[in-house]
Amino acid sequence: MDLGIAGKWALVGGASKGLGWGCARALAQEGVNVVMVARGGEVLNKAVDDLRAETGGKVQLIGVAVDITTEAGREAIWNVPGGPGKDYDIVVTNAGGPPPGDFRDWNREAWIKAIDANMLTPIELIKATVDRMAARGFGRIVNITSSAVKAPIDVLGLSNGARSGLTGFVAGASRSAIAAKGVTINNLLPGKFDTDRIRSTLPVMAQKVGKTVEELRAIQQAQIPAGRYGNPQEFGAICAFLCSQHAAYMTGQNVLADGGSYAGTF
Ligand code: NAD
Repeated sequence: MDLGIAGKWALVGGASKGLGWGCARALAQEGVNVVMVARGGEVLNKAVDDLRAETGGKVQLIGVAVDITTEAGREAIWNVPGGPGKDYDIVVTNAGGPPPGDFRDWNREAWIKAIDANMLTPIELIKATVDRMAARGFGRIVNITSSAVKAPIDVLGLSNGARSGLTGFVAGASRSAIAAKGVTINNLLPGKFDTDRIRSTLPVMAQKVGKTVEELRAIQQAQIPAGRYGNPQEFGAICAFLCSQHAAYMTGQNVLADGGSYAGTF
């Protein structure tokens, strides 16, 4: 299927590894030029080089090593040489998740950090780009959130709270006047995917339930109807579809990619 987005410009957050990398890769494979953002320059540069080699120089790929949750970081993205300024056609918001823990230990600072990264940063990116998208008659925003928005996980309280705020905002903004101008905003909700993120949260959860990481890994995978964790490649493919011309009539949706873990009918 031709997704009809070759030649467009995408901004992808957290693109050096994991789910953001999967999205950047899937879009580049569709002929989309991608500005890839991550904090660590070394891993990011390697990711950009790998993708450049894989796509044979057919698309423009630009790495920006900044903290996307800061105003200075976002300014650097809008001003990156060779990039499209704020004229993106596709924006995939993603900034790494808050740490797991016990809600009794989180102070105001911890909450503000989580809200900044997982609610206010996506909102700032949306604010900066959607009206320009609407003026050109095409735009796709995909926010990488979490299945925890639908089925909260106790130790991920910072994530449950901050992402629910973003989800409420998107429900309204996606249905505003931009909807009739070719701009869609959807959330893509990962369940359990085999990335560094899950590798960092598993030890905390394992300790909490008195299991080893390996035991918990096996238990979790057995509980997923698909029988395994997901991989960034299949996540990227769903993201690319949501960014495609074919997904023009889908907006304001929370799309779960969780191997069937969420057991609700709706
Ligand atoms: P990951 O740790 O594998 O990758 C995170 C990426 O984000 C890296 O490229 C990192 O450099 C970048 N990043 C982090 N903070 C950043 C910042 N402030 N500015 C710029 N870049 C930043 O994580 P992942 O598994 O790909 O997860 C992506 C998102 O999905 C996270 O928000 C995570 O909480 C959420 N999520 C993941 C899973 C899972 O199973 N992997 C499940 C639910 C939700």
